[in-house]
Amino acid sequence: MTQQRFCGEEVSRGTRSVWAGEEEYLLQGATQVPVVHSVSFGYRDIDHWHEVALGRKEGHIYGRNSNPTVQVFEEKVRLLEGAEAAVSFATGMAAISNALFTFLSPGDRVVTIKDTYGGTSKIFLEHLPRFQVDVKMCDTHDFDAIEEEIGKGCNVLYLETPTNPTLKVLDLERLVRAARRKGALVFVDNTFATPINQNPLDLGADLVIHSATKFLGGHADALGGVICGPEELVKKVYQYREIQGATLHPMAAYLLLRGMKTLHLRIRQQNESALTIARWLENHSSVEGVYYPGLPSHPHHEIAHKQMRGYGGVLSFSLTGGIEAVRAFLPGLRYAHLAANLGSVETVAGPPRTSSHVECTEEERQAMGIPEGLVRYSVGIEETEDLITDLRQALDRLPERIRIPS
Ligand SMILES: *Cc1c(COP(=O)(O)O)cnc(C)c1O
Repeated sequence: MTQQRFCGEEVSRGTRSVWAGEEEYLLQGATQVPVVHSVSFGYRDIDHWHEVALGRKEGHIYGRNSNPTVQVFEEKVRLLEGAEAAVSFATGMAAISNALFTFLSPGDRVVTIKDTYGGTSKIFLEHLPRFQVDVKMCDTHDFDAIEEEIGKGCNVLYLETPTNPTLKVLDLERLVRAARRKGALVFVDNTFATPINQNPLDLGADLVIHSATKFLGGHADALGGVICGPEELVKKVYQYREIQGATLHPMAAYLLLRGMKTLHLRIRQQNESALTIARWLENHSSVEGVYYPGLPSHPHHEIAHKQMRGYGGVLSFSLTGGIEAVRAFLPGLRYAHLAANLGSVETVAGPPRTSSHVECTEEERQAMGIPEGLVRYSVGIEETEDLITDLRQALDRLPERIRIPS
C-alpha cells in the first residue's frame, strides 16, 4: 500500500468526492482510474499467490471477489462515509439482501419500519419469513412503538431515512440507543440523504447502505450498491457476497466513480433547489400537501435539522384531484423524465404506484399514508427557476384538463 495523500477527515467531503481512493490506482501517470476488465489476475510466484488467496497480502485473484476499479469505488464511498471498510454490489437491492442474509438466521427477529423501499419491504414480507425470521414492521412516524418493539428484543434494527416517497425522517440517535441496549445491529439505508447530507455511522449505526444507482452515480447510467461500516462486520458481508455472487461490474464501478466526482456539487444544488421548489409548491392552489423535511411544516423538520447537513433532492407533493390530476399533470412537465428512478442530474417525476411502491395494493399505500394524488419529484441539477416555471405551467393547466372539486 502506498501512502495516500487524499484520504481522510483532513479535507472536506467535497474534496474527498473528487480525490479520495484514487491515487494508488492511477496507472503510469494517468489522471483517471482505469477500467480493469480482467476476470482473473495471474501470479508467477505461487507462494505470493497463496498469500493473496489467504488474504495475508494485498492483491486480486478473481473478479467475483475483487477488482481494482471496483476497489476504488469502494474506497471513495468508504472515505465519504468515514468508515473503516466498504463492500460493493451489483445493485442497491443486492447490498440490502446481502446485509440481511449475512447476519440473520432462523429464529432471529428484525424490527423495521413500514416505509422502507418497496423491494426491501418485499424481503421483509415474503423472503425472511420463509427462513423463520420474525419481522416486525412498525409505523414509521411512531418512534415510541419502534422503541417498544426493539425493547422486546431483536437482532437487527433496519432503518431508512428520509423515507420513500413521503420523506419521513427517523431519529437515528434515539433508535440506535434503544438498539444498543438490546445488543441489536443497526442498518441504515442512506440512499436519499447521501454521505454529503448525513453519516449514519457517526450517529451510531453499524452499517450504512446505499443504492449507488441513485445519487452516488447521479447519471442514471449504472446500477450499483455499497455497504460501509467496521471492518469486522463488512468482512462478513464481503465473504457472503463472494459466494452469493452479486458483484459490481468494473464498468459500472467506473461510471459510478465518474459520477461521484461531482457528488458534492450536485447535492449542494439539489438541496437548494428542492427547498426552494418545496416552498413554492406549498403556496400553489392545486397542491394539497408538500412533503419535504426542509420545510418547517414537516413533522420531522427538527430531527432532520439535527442529524442532516442538507435535506436532500427528493420531495413529494399531492395534487387536489387525486390520481386523475396526477395523470393529467405529469405529461405536462417538460423538464422531467417520467420514470422509476431518482437522484439523477435530470429531474425525474412519477407516482409511487408505478415506481417505489408498485408492489403494494392501493389499500397498503393508503395505510402507509401515500395519497393517490402523490407525485414524487427528484430534483435534478437544472436551474431552479426553470423547474419552477415548468411546474407552474403544468399545474396552471390542470384545472382545464380535469374538473377539480372546489
Ligand atoms: C432504489 C433504491 C433501492 C434499491 O436500489 P437498486 O440499485 O435499484 O437495487 C434501495 N433503497 C432505496 C432507498 C432506493 O431508493
